[in-house]
Amino acid sequence: MANIKQPMSVQEDGSQRITGKDAQRMNILAGKIVADIIKTTLGPRGMDKMLVDYTGDVMITNDGATILNKIDISHPAAKMIVEVARTQDQEVGDGTTTAVVLAGELLRKAESLLDKNIHATNIASGYKTASEKAEEFLKELGETATISDEDILLNIAKTGMTGKSAEKSVEKLAKIAVEAVRIVTTKDNGSYSANKENIKIDAKPGGSLEDSTIIHGLIVDEKIADDGMPKKIKNAKIALLTSAIEIKKTGVDAKIRITSPENVQAFLNQEEFMLKRIVDRIINSGANVLICEKGIDEAALHYLSKAGVYTLKNVTQKDIKKLSKATGARIVNVALDLEPNDLGKAELVEQRKVAEDEMTFIEGCTDPKAVSILIRGGTTQFVESIERALDDAVSVLITVVKDGTICAGGGATEMEVAKKLSDFSNSVKGREQLAVKAFAEALEAVPKTIAENSGLDTIDVLVNLRAAHNKEKSKALGVETSTGQIKDMIKAGVVEPLRIKQQAIKSASEATIMILRIDDVLAGKELAKSEANKGMSKAAQDMV
Ligand code: ADP
Ligand code: MG
Repeated sequence: MANIKQPMSVQEDGSQRITGKDAQRMNILAGKIVADIIKTTLGPRGMDKMLVDYTGDVMITNDGATILNKIDISHPAAKMIVEVARTQDQEVGDGTTTAVVLAGELLRKAESLLDKNIHATNIASGYKTASEKAEEFLKELGETATISDEDILLNIAKTGMTGKSAEKSVEKLAKIAVEAVRIVTTKDNGSYSANKENIKIDAKPGGSLEDSTIIHGLIVDEKIADDGMPKKIKNAKIALLTSAIEIKKTGVDAKIRITSPENVQAFLNQEEFMLKRIVDRIINSGANVLICEKGIDEAALHYLSKAGVYTLKNVTQKDIKKLSKATGARIVNVALDLEPNDLGKAELVEQRKVAEDEMTFIEGCTDPKAVSILIRGGTTQFVESIERALDDAVSVLITVVKDGTICAGGGATEMEVAKKLSDFSNSVKGREQLAVKAFAEALEAVPKTIAENSGLDTIDVLVNLRAAHNKEKSKALGVETSTGQIKDMIKAGVVEPLRIKQQAIKSASEATIMILRIDDVLAGKELAKSEANKGMSKAAQDMV
């Protein structure tokens, strides 16, 4: 066989391959780019991003997960960082920017270690050791909080909402969030649980933020099914029905032989008779409110209206489920099975106009297990940003109620873990030691970025913060963003669920380790032509 002079490729023409350090550096770069995009939004004084979609719709937000969800990211390694934010959002509902900033910083530090000719494998294993150790330290730092610690819960909610255009009404919104979470929290075998599904947040532009309210019951975005029905029912007895009140329409291929006009009448009478039977059953159960997931025939609506039953049709399944939790009604599938004890209760069911829409308020439920929050305020964009802020507040509260552990914010916890890790690194042998140290430094990116985004001198702040953490009883010391002073964050009311930090460190390090382990990026012919690869080649070009 002749000597092969040309490098041999086992891939088809048109496919692409990037190997070794090039692959690592390209992936690191892509990850850092994503982190840098959202870095400026971190903290109470973080900046906002204006997102414009292809239809020209504008959204202004500083929520990490929202930003990364809305922008198109094609590079595969960059997508892994986006995934970090998504996981964080799903698991804890807050701390997305923190997680991504950490990942970006871990990548940046890894890059300088690669420059010093430290092998990616060593960096990866050092990072793994460090993240496990960090988890241990975090557990020691956590403090307990319970559902009855009103002030702590309010502060958790407020910290969760910081920087999200909710500043002016943060007190009121925090109260609403705490109340909502308290209502939906249940206790089983000594442990608390709460489900976000049971808190419904509706945002309607118009009015002012101060008009926002919590309803001990539910708001359904539907109006009465017939104008003749009452618009207000006191001492409501509520029936929840999942099936339609209609006589099944005969399919096109079924023929009914009608031979005389009497026949037609008899047929129609039969239909009406069936509908009347269903409506009678509902009325006889004692229901004065009927909420139906499907459609209701005109004739049936007529009977319901005559009987003074407040009726909603085509209500979503989700709302029906929440209504059951709020009012205690049992969901009934077949109307003819409805019994008086299936009915739920509310002090008041009323149709009210909110902005341009008629909505149904079901309120005054005794011991409801689901609630509604109605957000009001200036523009659509504004109420939507408040909705996201409140959603974050609810998420962090639920996390705290379930876990019962909190920690100090404002970069305090990250700094304390950084200090402990740095001390620990001295006991680590070989090159991994450098990686553990780098990991500790990466954690400092949180207080550093908070300071930077607040317009403070980052070097001063970091030096002071490090010095403060070298003293006793320093675990709660963080950055006071208006003055740059080092303060006890728990006393200042900047508190967060410990889980935010645990999850952020976990997913950031996992993603970074995964990226570091890649030394070969192979793109097939089709993929090489794809958007993902264009992003990849672009990043590779930018590097050189
Ligand atoms: P994330 O998406 O990570 O939640 P945020 O923009 O909400 O990002 O910022 C969260 C960080 O800001 C946390 O480290 C938190 O402790 C800190 N933070 C929140 N409020 C304050 C405050 N009043 N002072 C100092 N730091 C704060
Ligand atoms: Mg946040």
